[in-house]
Amino acid sequence: RKPVIAIDGYSSTGKSSISKILAERLGLIHMDTGALYRGITYYSLQCCADAQGNINFEKVFDNLKNISLEFRKTGDILTLFLDGEDISQQIRTKEVSDHVSQIACQKEVRAFLLDTQRAIAAQGGVILDGRDIGTVVLPNADYKFFLTASIEERTKRRFLELQNMGVEISAEEVSHNLTTRDKIDSEREIAPLRQAEDAILIDNSNMSKDETIAAIISHIAE
Ligand code: C5P
Repeated sequence: RKPVIAIDGYSSTGKSSISKILAERLGLIHMDTGALYRGITYYSLQCCADAQGNINFEKVFDNLKNISLEFRKTGDILTLFLDGEDISQQIRTKEVSDHVSQIACQKEVRAFLLDTQRAIAAQGGVILDGRDIGTVVLPNADYKFFLTASIEERTKRRFLELQNMGVEISAEEVSHNLTTRDKIDSEREIAPLRQAEDAILIDNSNMSKDETIAAIISHIAE
């Protein structure tokens, strides 16, 4: 049976891009669970918010059962669809990043997304990256990793990534968004961002992406 791998950690530690490359190398499917929370946030801002971006959470909860949020598989790549529309670009905006942690601390939302995540993992041969994969979603994962890096390094990486995507944002705004999300994610009552007791900690402040990947692979048995 192919392994189930959980990769958690702070924002912009490279979880998703590293998981994607690892999945290709190891012949596994990669699921970016943050995209699910971003998808619900995108939906909430479209359908359940006023002009100032204040979200009506009760309305979101009432509508959850009517929305279809799913990953569709093309080859080994999973793409996120909301009610039949590919929303992979729309979920990366600053507006979504600014609101996602408020959505992610709602227990109704987390319960709703749990099944989607576990159903994918039940097939085996997957890498899930997120914040609570090793602690809550897949406590029995075969391998668990927890990534961290200094806030300076994470800000630099995210800033460059957003610049390459053509998003206009200052380094201060990026740093503020990362710090705020990490704080809300770590302090929430339900499924807080936390290293699982049996997860391997990797601080990649001074490591390249390739070095982080090599460090992870060194722990995975052939
Ligand atoms: O991974 P990404 O930065 O796209 O995640 C966006 C947000 O989604 C996180 O800041 C967090 O609030 C939420 N999230 C979560 N649990 C996960 C994955 C993401 O709460 N497993």
